[in-house]
Amino acid sequence: MIIPVTSKPRTSKANKTGTWRSGKKPHFIQKECIACRLCVMVCPEGCISGDKRCTYIADFKYCKGCGNCAAVCPVADIEMVKEEWWRETIS
Ligand code: SF4
Ligand code: SF4
Repeated sequence: MIIPVTSKPRTSKANKTGTWRSGKKPHFIQKECIACRLCVMVCPEGCISGDKRCTYIADFKYCKGCGNCAAVCPVADIEMVKEEWWRETIS
């Protein structure tokens, strides 16, 4: 099967795709992280960074709130929270 591609790959860094989001965003709890990097590998926006245990974060200028990172984290150290929760709790 051929899947049409309508945009160039790896353009999200230039386009700041986080101007819209699903309504949720990932909260990296940073308590149980084992630095497996699975979240980095599955993020479609390539917007997760970190280099050792409990340092991983997402760049919300690009995050779409897809939830992939939270779904694959083997130690449940990422939770998807509503945008409102983030504003009230973190900001
Ligand atoms: S929710 Fe999706 S886009 Fe946002 S950091 Fe996680 S995997 Fe990347
Ligand atoms: S998937 Fe979970 S344990 Fe692995 S690097 Fe990301 S936050 Fe850490």
